[in-house]
Amino acid sequence: MIPLRESFRDIPLYSPPKRPCRVDLSDNTNLFGVPPAAERVLRESRPESLSRYPRGYAPDLRNVLASRLGVGAACVTTGCGSDDVLDSALRAFLEPGEVLAFQDPTFVMMPLFAKVNGLKTAPVPLRADFDVDPEALLATGAKVIYLCSPNNPTGTPLSRAAVEHVVEKAPGIVIIDEAYVEFSSAPDFMDLARTRQNVLVTRTFSKAYGLAGMRVGWGVGSLALIAEVEKARGPYKLTTLAESMAVAVLREDPMWVEVQVVEARRNREHLRAELMSMGLSPLPSEGNFLMVPMPDALGVAQRMRERDVNVRAFQGLTGVGDALRIGSGPWPMLEAALAALRESLR
Ligand SMILES: *Cc1c(COP(=O)(O)O)cnc(C)c1O
Repeated sequence: MIPLRESFRDIPLYSPPKRPCRVDLSDNTNLFGVPPAAERVLRESRPESLSRYPRGYAPDLRNVLASRLGVGAACVTTGCGSDDVLDSALRAFLEPGEVLAFQDPTFVMMPLFAKVNGLKTAPVPLRADFDVDPEALLATGAKVIYLCSPNNPTGTPLSRAAVEHVVEKAPGIVIIDEAYVEFSSAPDFMDLARTRQNVLVTRTFSKAYGLAGMRVGWGVGSLALIAEVEKARGPYKLTTLAESMAVAVLREDPMWVEVQVVEARRNREHLRAELMSMGLSPLPSEGNFLMVPMPDALGVAQRMRERDVNVRAFQGLTGVGDALRIGSGPWPMLEAALAALRESLR
């Protein structure tokens, strides 16, 4: 018998039900493919360089991101996906036993990261209009508050007034996860990361930027805040190849990203109209996906998988109930999903 850590006994591995499907709309990644600059980096990379460590703390990517935002490089952190930035931030600011508060429903990884870091959690239901309830979040007294806008899995954005209220009154750190910001027409919150001491805004190359497999995420905050996250992060979270690709895509492919974003948004609205004509009530979305409440979403998703289409099913979400989350991408994929959904609802 190996000595187990008591709080680890019931931690599940992250494993949404999935099998290889012809059409996979289950994870909100970029379904249009890989940015050309990333392919070029892969083609031109020299295998000899792989036997050495990358440079610590991904300085090239940090510098490029910082100069684009007009902040110092020390106000930017990077990680193995923004998952890693979020996880590092929890470790940086919370001792085991302390409380993480977050809006509910939200990103399923947050309760998991909390558990792995030995934290208590305080989920706070979103209001009926899917905005956060500032007073309820603040009443938890949590030293770290996590917000997500546009929110996964609902697709809904948070209001400026509510987020500012939380940031103003929070006793500690406020994390604002902007994994889907590129798809949103709602205002973003990056200015808060630049002007407030206690705000960390996180972003990712996994969604609009088409590099989910390379694992690159980043965050912006005050000097003092980022210094702590960097301590928790460790030096080598980005591989040499991942850093080179992210830098190349930022420099060479802004138009590629923009074109796919426009298309994903247009197709999302087209899909939404089709779903409404079927009598369903998809939530308004600012992400590259739609949340579609329906009874027995798990059963529907199972029947869709049998028709070679993978979507994500949620059960008993606070304020929503059962629902499917369907990613947006090239229209033929969404048409296939609509056909599979029609048959699966019968
Ligand atoms: C996809 C996603 C992320 C990021 O994932 P990484 O691939 O780790 O960068 C972060 N937050 C939310 C809400 C997401 O949906």
